[in-house]
This record gives sequence, structure tokens and C-alpha cells, in this order.
Amino acid sequence: MTSKPVYLYSTLTRTKDEFKPLQPPHVGIYNCGPTVYKDIHIGNLRAFTTTDLLRRMLEYNDYDVLLVRNITDVGHLHEGDDPRGGEDKLEHEARKSGRSAHEIAEYYTRLYLRDVEEMNILPAHIMPKASDHITEMVEMTGKLIDNGLAYVSDGNVYYDVSNFKPYGALSGNTVENLRTGGHGRAQMEIAEDKDANEDFALWKHGDATRQMNWESPWGVGFPGWHIECSAMATRYLGEQFDIHTGGIDLVFPHHEDEIAQSQGSSGKQPVQYWVHNEFLDFGNSKMSRSVGNVLLLSNLKERGIEPIAYRYLLLTAHYRSKLNFTDDSINAAQNALNNLRADIAELPITATPQQWSAEAIKTREAFHQAINNDLDMPTAISITREAARTHRIEAGERRHLLLDFDRVLGLRLDTVEPKAEVVVSDEALELVRQRDAARTARNWAESDRLRDQLKALGFEVRDTPKGTQLV
Ligand code: AMP
Ligand code: ZN
Repeated sequence: MTSKPVYLYSTLTRTKDEFKPLQPPHVGIYNCGPTVYKDIHIGNLRAFTTTDLLRRMLEYNDYDVLLVRNITDVGHLHEGDDPRGGEDKLEHEARKSGRSAHEIAEYYTRLYLRDVEEMNILPAHIMPKASDHITEMVEMTGKLIDNGLAYVSDGNVYYDVSNFKPYGALSGNTVENLRTGGHGRAQMEIAEDKDANEDFALWKHGDATRQMNWESPWGVGFPGWHIECSAMATRYLGEQFDIHTGGIDLVFPHHEDEIAQSQGSSGKQPVQYWVHNEFLDFGNSKMSRSVGNVLLLSNLKERGIEPIAYRYLLLTAHYRSKLNFTDDSINAAQNALNNLRADIAELPITATPQQWSAEAIKTREAFHQAINNDLDMPTAISITREAARTHRIEAGERRHLLLDFDRVLGLRLDTVEPKAEVVVSDEALELVRQRDAARTARNWAESDRLRDQLKALGFEVRDTPKGTQLV
């Protein structure tokens, strides 16, 4: 194991602390995955990339990571001031398109998996689907009723928030704040049969218009969105695990409610570090479907931008800072990536060095320190760019160093072929000399004849201001 400390900022403590896993070298991470009712947009991909970088950084530090990223295929309702308020996102799409909810989930799951692969986001070790874990959700809901933290009302089950004392620790939206109009109020579910506004649904009764209904002790219905993640995280990572990730918009209510559910049923604090990424903005507001300013990865490709160039762009901003997507910023990222590749193409492939040189060690330490410092990728990427060009490290070793960094960056730098060196024979050199002389004398016929002769020797001829060049 490495002895370098890793520092992570946690939304729960609001401080950056040394990361200490519960059972080193194992690290369990749960990342809220996509709701598969529409194409994911590049804002969603910022969230998945952040978790990917976190996982890669921990693996670089020799931790043995188990990453769970779920697929939400039921229970996520339209929220807030959405005019369709309260309808299941998948059911809504099914009704609109005439396809089954199952078909929709399958279709968008496939597109999502294609997008994450194109961005070199490593596949999660476990990708549980919510609809495959209804039993676990019903069980946890039952436990919460037994523990006096939930109540049944007309086939619905609600969490009794006022009975969970630590409520609000993550988001600051305590019951008192919510009742006096705290900023999370707008995100509270609207329902007439709740005891209090801040209570949220664990189980909802179904009806004949729905395609997805399950049996439960409270009648036929379907789970709430929040209980899904509590149930799946507990199932695969246990009652207590190391890191939970997601976009900043999930802090409230989704993650606050997850704590209430998981801790309410097990009695233990479920998550040691909460890591949230800031938004990708577009046109200076959060990229989101409700604003209508979404861009898909396929839209970038249509504009000649590679998915990996978008990954590069994400590396240039710290994950806890907003990033505004503009034509200029994405073009600059594509150019910077091209330049980095061109630098690497100059470096020969050599045998893996037995040990790093002193200069390589120094650069590696700086890179390592940056990534361990709460994923300071902007610093890490600038170290990488400098390392690609420095003459203080021998060219062959430089290539190995860059590929070592790419275990974390994930820019697929290993696919960059070295530029083949053109080996020119004395005979060809003599023809080049003669051809340059012919061109100086404006003897084009002779110049063309010599071009053909060079071609017969296997060289393409390029005319440059410096004279004949062979490729
Ligand atoms: P959803 O499918 O809506 O649950 O979103 C999947 C993930 O994307 C969640 O972690 C969200 O917080 C995150 N997310 C959504 N919009 C953005 C955005 N504009 N920038 C960064 N992350 C986002
Ligand atoms: Zn979740």
C-alpha cells in the first residue's frame, strides 16, 4: 500500500479530511446512476466522470475499489414545478411514446452504456437495476415502520421525518428550516395524505394506468426513488460503506432521505464521505432537461468533437467548481488533447524502465500529490502537459510516465502511435539532392522524373519551403 495520504472533501462535514476507509485496502463507493427514460446529457456525464476519476485515483493509490452505480428504471417522479408533477418519468415516457416502460429502460440503458464507454468511464463493478430490487426496498420500508419512522396512509407509506433527529445534517434542511421556508421546501413532494409536508414516500400505491406495479404488505404499488438507493447500497456495500457520490442537486432531498432511511433502519451512519460534483452549466445555467439546454455526447460528435476531448475539458476544472460549457472551451480542450497526442507521438516505445529516474520520480510525486488532494485534476493535467515536453526526462521514459498518469486521466493516451521514423538510404538522399537542384533550376520535368524515381523506392515526396521532404 502507498503511504501517501488521500484528502477528500465531504459535504457532510464540510471539510477536507484525510480519507480513511473502513476496511483498507477495500473501498466501497455508491454512485447514483441515471434514470433511463431519456438520453443522458453531458451534464450527467460530468457526474459519472467525477466518480470515475475518484475510483481511478483510489486505484492509483492501490486501494481495492468496489463501485456500485445503479440504474433507476422505476420510481423517479417528475418534481418541483414541473407541470406533469408527480408522474413516474418512465411511465410518462411510455405513455407518450406508446412503448412499454421495460422497452424504454432497455433502450436508454444501452445508449447510456455506449456514452460512458466512449468517455472511457470504467464500467461499475455492479450495476443494479431498481426494478430487480423491490424485495429489498419492501423489506427496508417494513423495518422503518417497525422502528416507528414510517406510517401507512391509504396504501402509501411515508417516512416520518420529524422522528429522525439527525435529519438535515447533510443539506442543512432540518425539519425546522423546512417548516419555516428553507430553500429545500420547493423540492418537497406534494401529497394530501401526508402527516407533514416534509415527509416523503417510501412506497406509493399503484393504479391501473401504471405498467410497473408490485405486491407489498400495503397493497399493490411501487417504491419511492430515495428508498431504491438505500436498499441497493445496503445490499451490495453493507450498512456502512466508504463513499457516496452524485451531483450537487442530489444532496437534497435524495441523499438527505437516503441517510434517514439507511440510518433509520440500521441505526448506523451509512456513509463516511459524501462527494458531490458541481454542475456543468450551459448558457450560464445548469444543464438540465427542465431548462431545455441539454447537449448529448452525440451532438458533440456531430460537431467534430471527440468524447475524450469532453473528458479533457472536465479535467480542466475542479469537480467542486461550476464549469460553463462554451464552444471556445470545448474547442480549446480538443486542441489541447490533439497537442498532447502530438507530443506523445514523438516519443518512442521502449522497454518498461526498471526504475524511474530522479526527475521522473519528482514529476510523479507532484502528480500523485495533486490527485490525492481532493482530485485536483487541473493541476494534474498541467503537470501532464509539462511532462510531455520536458527534456529533463528521456523520451522513452517520458512515454511510460504519461501512460502511468493516464491510468487516472483516462485519455486513452496508449492508443497514440509513435511517429514512424523515415529511414532514408544514401541513394534516396542523393535523389533528393538532385531534385532540389532541378527545382532551383526550374527544371520541372527533371523534378517530376526524380519524384517518380523516389516513389519507386517507396517514398512519398512533399514539397516544403525547406525543399524536398520524404514521408
Ligand atoms: P439523473 O438521471 O437526473 O438522476 O442524473 C444523474 C446524475 O447526473 C446525478 O448525479 C445528477 O446530480 C447529475 N447531474 C444532472 N445534471 C447535471 C449537470 N448539469 N451537471 C453535473 N451533474 C449533473
Ligand atoms: Zn441515488
